[in-house]
Amino acid sequence: MNWLQRFMAGRYGSDQLNFALLVLCLLLSLISQITGLYVLLLISYLPLLFAIFRMFSRNIYKRRAENAWFLKLWTPVKTWFVQKFTMLRQSKQYRFFRCPSCRATVRVPRGKGKIQIRCPHCGNTFLKKS
Ligand SMILES: [Zn+2]
Repeated sequence: MNWLQRFMAGRYGSDQLNFALLVLCLLLSLISQITGLYVLLLISYLPLLFAIFRMFSRNIYKRRAENAWFLKLWTPVKTWFVQKFTMLRQSKQYRFFRCPSCRATVRVPRGKGKIQIRCPHCGNTFLKKS
């Protein structure tokens, strides 16, 4: 174990971008297996090689910048999916509406009839059937 610690000293290691690259590699190889397009299998090695390169790279500053760039793109996508999943999970107890003035999502309890909803973000009120 000591040799591995010595080998990895000063090297970047893994991060969110590396994980995404490995998932992309797996997806591409899976699609190539299903469709029989073996060109995709060759292409799937590119993200894998890039992930390995990043893991053993000593240019930590540049790898961190790449990861920050990736997170800047990925975080809104992830937030959107988490929000939709939460809305789906809570859809039996709550209804979700968009505020007509600020477009924020407002959650109200289900089955309360026609109610006046006050947006917590902008204070705008609107009528909806819950
Ligand atoms: Zn609003």
